[in-house]
Amino acid sequence: MAYINIHLSKIKYNAFVLKQILNERGIQMVPVLKCAGGDSQIAQLFAEMGFEVVAESRLNLIESKPSQLNYMIIKGTTPNEVPTLVNNATMSIQTDLNVIRAINDEAKKQNKRHHILLMVDWKDGREGILTYETVHYLNEIIQLENIYLKGIAFNFMCHRPLPPTEEDISYIEQFLNSIKQETGLSFTTVSGGNSSMLTLAMYHDLGMINELRVGEALFRGYETAHGHRLPILYEDTIELVGHITEIKPRLNMSTHQPYMQALVDIGHLDTVVAELTPDDKKLKILGSSSDLLLIDLGDADGYQIGDAITFKLGYAAIAQSMHSKHLEKKYKCDKGIELIVGNFKSTKSYKV
Ligand SMILES: *Cc1c(COP(=O)(O)O)cnc(C)c1O
Repeated sequence: MAYINIHLSKIKYNAFVLKQILNERGIQMVPVLKCAGGDSQIAQLFAEMGFEVVAESRLNLIESKPSQLNYMIIKGTTPNEVPTLVNNATMSIQTDLNVIRAINDEAKKQNKRHHILLMVDWKDGREGILTYETVHYLNEIIQLENIYLKGIAFNFMCHRPLPPTEEDISYIEQFLNSIKQETGLSFTTVSGGNSSMLTLAMYHDLGMINELRVGEALFRGYETAHGHRLPILYEDTIELVGHITEIKPRLNMSTHQPYMQALVDIGHLDTVVAELTPDDKKLKILGSSSDLLLIDLGDADGYQIGDAITFKLGYAAIAQSMHSKHLEKKYKCDKGIELIVGNFKSTKSYKV
């Protein structure tokens, strides 16, 4: 049986490093856990690290949440989800006035105050209100008694491959200033985007942006504007491990050379096969079906039936595997990494 290795200490390390880097720049980090399939040990880890807010995309994944964590739902809410949203999440990103009004009515019923970030479509073209609608939306939203308008959100690189630039930062600043002039509103939170903002955040001031929602960098150590590795982070916090079920010589039809082919018990039902990279660089994935991978063993001749093969995963592969109910999860802790994270913390508190 194939299984998932979840390296909790590496996730903790990545979260800690990203949080420090961003906090030093005056930016709050909201961990985006949507690729973890609602894993309660991972959620617990973020609660223990002192994160107050984490983001999730699906309402049904937060039913058994750790009590200390507030959940922000980052995928738009449909009208029939509103009661569950108000009941289970304190905060959400919204883009439709009628849904926001329904949230207000429901929050009144449940005697709650729901926090929202209003998503503005800057240039990505996926979700969000149009920039010219913003003032109208804000004037409507501030009249809703059971909605707390926490701020504005932006998003990049989810649809159009247009990375955020220095110009975007200053235009966003001008945009928010002109909104302030027209409405008198300034916001507690300007949530500036996702992992595609990280490279810019390293070398450029992010202006009025004071929050980033980070998923892929956290679990894979990549920024997503240019697909660059962030070498200070672990890329293998979550791995997939399969086992060899068969080894036979086969003929390569184009070279007419024989090679040793292994079958491994992972397929399209378990993950996004195109995003798998074998840890052993000698191995090459030749093909796949719903339940099996075909692997050219190259000159790696030590393998036997039953041996474990470990794969690094792309983001969609992590998400699909973590959402699978048919893969066992194995949680790993590493004392050495825990020690390093512990030392970061004590140096930090020593300085303060
Ligand atoms: C997925 C998502 C994020 C996190 O994106 P990463 O690129 O994984 O950091 C942030 N905001 C929204 C709205 C998302 O859907």
